[in-house]
Amino acid sequence: MTELLLRGGRPWNPGVAPELADIHVVDGRIAAIGADLAAPAAEVIDLDGALVLPGLVDTHCHLDKTLWSGPWVPNTGGRTLAGRIANGESRRAELGLPNVDYAGNLLAAMIAAGTTHVRSHVDVDPEIGLAGVEVVRAAAERHRDRVDVELVAFPQGGLLRRPGTAKLLEAALADGVEVIGGLDPAGYDDDAAGHLDLVFGLAERYGAKIDIHLHDGGSLGAWQFGLIVERTRALGLAGRVTISHAYAMGQQEPDEQRRIAEELAAAGVAMVTCAVGEAPVVPVRVMAGAGATLALGNDGIRDLWTPYGDGDMLRRISTVAYRDRLVADTEIELALRAGTHGGAAVLGLTEYGLTPGAPADLCVVDGPTPAAAVVALPPRRLVFKRGRMVAANGALLAAD
Ligand SMILES: [Zn+2]
Repeated sequence: MTELLLRGGRPWNPGVAPELADIHVVDGRIAAIGADLAAPAAEVIDLDGALVLPGLVDTHCHLDKTLWSGPWVPNTGGRTLAGRIANGESRRAELGLPNVDYAGNLLAAMIAAGTTHVRSHVDVDPEIGLAGVEVVRAAAERHRDRVDVELVAFPQGGLLRRPGTAKLLEAALADGVEVIGGLDPAGYDDDAAGHLDLVFGLAERYGAKIDIHLHDGGSLGAWQFGLIVERTRALGLAGRVTISHAYAMGQQEPDEQRRIAEELAAAGVAMVTCAVGEAPVVPVRVMAGAGATLALGNDGIRDLWTPYGDGDMLRRISTVAYRDRLVADTEIELALRAGTHGGAAVLGLTEYGLTPGAPADLCVVDGPTPAAAVVALPPRRLVFKRGRMVAANGALLAAD
């Protein structure tokens, strides 16, 4: 039995002001949280009043695309979706992508910044096949005691318009990839019903979750929310379907946003927002008010799509809060909740958070309140994965 006592931290649960408490960890799980806990056999770490957040959850990134830790590559992606897709595909071989070192080094940076769970989309198409899946799996394996990584088989180049891609997605699911992706069923693939029927059909056959990139804006995007909700209901997939980006949500009038959020909540469909560039952000308060699940992610990080990004989920939470004009502490905490508990819901984690019985996945930061930490982005003092310290003061610790 291994025991750890985190003395005098301020554990955070959504909606509750953090108070001084000890956290007793036994065999990687939280055994108790309370004042003045006695654990004579435990290794003791004094937290000096620091905030203890649950491990941050990045539910949307592209580890297979990253150039992290490699040479600087000036961006040649241009400004259109089709242009970026073409640029990404045509230059990946020349740049050695996908790359296990780049993906692994990016994971290291994410962990050091407090992330304990990741969902990564991985490109699948007839040219690259399942190479990206193998590379990201190998990178995740390097950090398997530090972070849990879930993969999405993602048809970045289109599904119906790229013959052969559907078969490869199916092969990925048969090989154990947990989630099937989709991409603008109407706006890019030109057949919303056909695209969604294929994706939902494969998900049903292989017991996979679904995560669809939906950049389509305005009424075209909102119409597809309805198609996705309808299919989620018909197949009983509540809690297993996510719409990523969902730019159209941020473009609706407030009444329509509320109606959509209520429909999402009732059907068990989540949204993920990344607050990328000038793209509309899914309204955090509206989603919370309706009881709909919202999660966050970094999206592309230093890749052929964007030269920006550092993998720091707390910074992403801060960006979302800023872009959505969340200003009261209670509002900013909603963004923090999305980047933690919201992400856990999208990943389907049944044990998560600062509660007895849950794995001790923790991110310790200094700050007067959780909202202040989201604004100030203090260094991550300590990061724990299943009760083991994996990073300190923003740096990854070597495995023991
Ligand atoms: Zn993406």
